[in-house]
Amino acid sequence: MPRAYNLRKRVLVTGGAGFIGSHLIDSLLQQGNEVLCVDNLFTGAKRNIEHHHNNARFEFIRHDVTIPLYVEVDEIYNLACPASPVHYQHDPVQTTKTSVQGAINMLGLAKRLRCKILQASTSEVYGDPILHPQPESYWGNVNPIGARSCYDEGKRCAETLFFDYRRQHGLEIKVARIFNTFGPRMHHADGRVVSNFIVQALKGAPLTVYGDGQQTRSFCYVQDMVDGLIRFMETDETETGPINLGNPVEYTIRSLAERTLALTGSKSDIIWETLPEDDPKQRCPNIGLAKEVLSWAPRLQLDEGLNKTIEYYRQLFPGWAI
Ligand code: NAD
Ligand code: UDP
Repeated sequence: MPRAYNLRKRVLVTGGAGFIGSHLIDSLLQQGNEVLCVDNLFTGAKRNIEHHHNNARFEFIRHDVTIPLYVEVDEIYNLACPASPVHYQHDPVQTTKTSVQGAINMLGLAKRLRCKILQASTSEVYGDPILHPQPESYWGNVNPIGARSCYDEGKRCAETLFFDYRRQHGLEIKVARIFNTFGPRMHHADGRVVSNFIVQALKGAPLTVYGDGQQTRSFCYVQDMVDGLIRFMETDETETGPINLGNPVEYTIRSLAERTLALTGSKSDIIWETLPEDDPKQRCPNIGLAKEVLSWAPRLQLDEGLNKTIEYYRQLFPGWAI
């Protein structure tokens, strides 16, 4: 239901045509807000937002956040940045520019408008963590010159900028450290593990496990993530974060491959491929702070989320074998 004009917020979502951004927009519109989606469609797709085409409270601007933007809004969610290792390593200089220059432009906008701004940061700021599970107080173990550095260091620098705008200009900031998130609308070819495995299983192709498959990740369903982001935005100005958002249940990548085969009913084989450079060995969020400050914890377990995602790909590509 649309809210009355005086109660409506006008919310900017950068990266809104992407995977998480498009779900965030669905929820913000459902709450009755107006939404301005800004995206250069590098990894996002119009199909993720086309169901809002006839909604008068929704607008889309094709724009690159490395270029300044002059709009009038009440809140900003800054999600613009490719998130899959394959995509962010495709043009690493542009990835750093998107994180750093994009943050400067969006923080400049928030400063002019005196509005709240939330940054989609990442568990990658912890690099290949030595401390496990990772609390927000951990400073991380990041290679500054490797293939993943454009993303990791770009996001770290963005966090620095957010806290400097807070200290220097009194801006109301929220820094969310997002851990691996999955669900419908992940690009089927973006190379991330959940989409890769499901697509491979549905096509009857071998599932490609990198390394020995003993590295771990913890997977949060996208609707849980969106709920966490919105709750965080609604906190008072003392809550700046950083706050970890993610599912604290940890899986080996090998076990994820096996679950995917079981849930799809696929007879695909598992094959072993080379582990990419600097691939973190373990990753799991400590979400004590999110529980305390946001009263938030993920609700959907992995299998339920995988089933919803499998169903999404089956509907999108009905021609696949399985
Ligand atoms: P995504 O690639 O689906 O979405 C990113 C969106 O940003 C895309 O629509 C893309 O076109 C857009 N974009 C990229 N560069 C841009 C630019 N210069 N100007 C304007 N738009 C640009 O990825 P996602 O998984 O939805 O991730 C969204 C945000 O959450 C990212 O900032 C990412 O770093 C962060 N994050 C995601 C995860 C995850 O597991 N999905 C984990 C940690 C952090
Ligand atoms: N991975 C894999 N097979 C794939 C894609 C990824 O084994 O087809 C592994 C990857 O090496 C990493 C984990 O799965 O250890 C998660 O990879 P993803 O790219 O999804 O995200 P990351 O957490 O590394 O950013």
